[in-house]
Amino acid sequence: MTVNAKKTEQFEFQAEVNQVLDLVIHSLYSNKEIFLRELISNASDACDKRRFEAIKDTSLGADDLYIKIDFDADDKTVTITDNGIGMTRDEVIANIGTIANSGTKKYLESIAKKDRDDANLIGQFGVGFYASFIVADEVELRTRKAGVAADQAVSWKSDGKSAYTLENIEKEEVGTEIILHLRKEEGDFADHFRLKSLVKKYSEHVAFPIKMLEVIYPEKDDEGNEIPAKTPEYEVVNDATALWKKNPGDIKYEDYQSFYKQISHDFQDAAFWSHNHIEGTQSYSNLLYVPSKSPFNMFQNPEDREGLKLYVKRVFIMDASKELLPNYLRFVKGVVDSNDLPLNVSREILQDNPLLKKIRSGLVKRVLGLLKKQSVDTDVYANFWKEFGDILKEGVVEDFANREAVMKLLRFSSTHNDDATENVSLEDYIGRMSESQETIYYVTGESYEAVKNSPHLELFKKKGVEVLLMHSRIDEWIMSHVHEFDGKKFQSVAKGKLDLGKDEEKPAETSDEEKNFLKQIKENLKDVVSDVTASTRLVDSASCLVMDEHAMAIHMQKLMEQVGQAVPGQLPALEINLEHPLVKHIEQITDEDRFAQWADMLYQQALLAEGGQLKNPAQYVHQLNQLMLEVMK
Ligand code: ADP
Repeated sequence: MTVNAKKTEQFEFQAEVNQVLDLVIHSLYSNKEIFLRELISNASDACDKRRFEAIKDTSLGADDLYIKIDFDADDKTVTITDNGIGMTRDEVIANIGTIANSGTKKYLESIAKKDRDDANLIGQFGVGFYASFIVADEVELRTRKAGVAADQAVSWKSDGKSAYTLENIEKEEVGTEIILHLRKEEGDFADHFRLKSLVKKYSEHVAFPIKMLEVIYPEKDDEGNEIPAKTPEYEVVNDATALWKKNPGDIKYEDYQSFYKQISHDFQDAAFWSHNHIEGTQSYSNLLYVPSKSPFNMFQNPEDREGLKLYVKRVFIMDASKELLPNYLRFVKGVVDSNDLPLNVSREILQDNPLLKKIRSGLVKRVLGLLKKQSVDTDVYANFWKEFGDILKEGVVEDFANREAVMKLLRFSSTHNDDATENVSLEDYIGRMSESQETIYYVTGESYEAVKNSPHLELFKKKGVEVLLMHSRIDEWIMSHVHEFDGKKFQSVAKGKLDLGKDEEKPAETSDEEKNFLKQIKENLKDVVSDVTASTRLVDSASCLVMDEHAMAIHMQKLMEQVGQAVPGQLPALEINLEHPLVKHIEQITDEDRFAQWADMLYQQALLAEGGQLKNPAQYVHQLNQLMLEVMK
């Protein structure tokens, strides 16, 4: 018995679907031919799923999986058929009537900001199917799930505006058929050569045969009579082999690129890749791509990532990005095909499977090796670094076993350069160190401008000692986890006692008067600083704040306060440049109130230069103006 047979029901689209549809149609218009790739890619996934399900339930049968493309030049339709897993009625509602991914909202927000090329974002949120509406003004999807009766199939129809209809239908074959009624101006797509060339261009390496009816030209016999045309048959128009199983030497550059786009939904070329067949105690193939642009949500959900597919003996098992690579390599996309894992492997089994652990550590080494190789080409690596550098840095903390290798791949801005370019490696830095220098100096801050002009650098500039300028949000966190590289200790120039090595001039002894002066300042500032000392690092500035060696930098404290986090209650020390004319002037002040004001001024200035947050900025401005007026008198 069929429930609701033939009854047509009307459904409204989920609110967000409308916006996405609108967006897809407009932003992808210049790229409209990709609709075919998106639908073929869905069909291929459906075939993968059917083959996987058939391992557990052989009655589902999955011997002859294929994708077919048909068209009708008169009716202006294009039909994409697959005999993959199909969908139930509920699945159609869930998958096609809604946009399942919770990131959709964020996606729409980011589009609203227009800070990216729209086209590059489509697909990241599973809007692939909606690409149909770029070329079609009516789409019908007919589907029957594997294992479900023929009269329980479903037809979904929509004009892509606000609603869709669902109807129960009979469908002889398992799988999905998508009929596109082309828009008037897109009728040209209903053409054999056009469609075939799009398959070649975008879907050549789909691992299932893509079939099209052959074209039969009328023939004449010797007497000039037309020979009755034979019935056209379906022919396979793509390569239909698993690209990753081929010999790298037999694969062309364009093939790698088109395969990348097929599996990643990216619209741009991959930056570079690594393709290997590993033989030994266990054998597997891997084809690992590094994209040329980072998707905007890269930083948000490292746990939800996708893009690395696990196959076992060419059978797609699951997207296993998380199982196959650590978080800090989450930008990698591609395919891993194991010969040794069991076909019925589940995510739970994968998580502590020793074979998988070995594959995972092999893949990490592959990716790090690939990056090392690419780092020789400064332009290519600079682009990689710009897109993914901050993610790779997480590896310093996340992957203790490979820390050294990851650290070699890091690039920094430096006082060695005149601009913000991050192209100095730790090895470059060490190569330029003088023989007597034993420490790698760095400073962290919230922007390049802030660190470049930090008062803490003054002595280093004067002495010509290079300092790494770190200005990304995660640098302070990273540096709190590393203590040395290649036997050289790291030291923040804004923290702890400075030791410029053997050639440091000993600072002049502070006289009793000076000690007394410093003590007086300290008394005035006892609530905000832990100590007041004569500076060993200032040349041009009057004062600076110095944190304890293991304490959190001031700009970080500010960031944490802003996001409502508790900040560890460590006070900085205030260093005073006793040679500075302003300081010399303050030393002469006898009036207690004026002295207190100036002492406060020295502290507030140092805090500002550090990227810290003044507790009462308006009061500071008022006080500064008052002092200036006094000086002008
Ligand atoms: P994505 O493929 O990125 O998930 P789509 O909007 O293209 O996003 O498809 C949404 C979902 O609809 C798919 O994840 C899949 O579950 C289902 N689907 C789409 N096309 C097919 C198909 N040809 N056969 C079976 N299921 C499909």
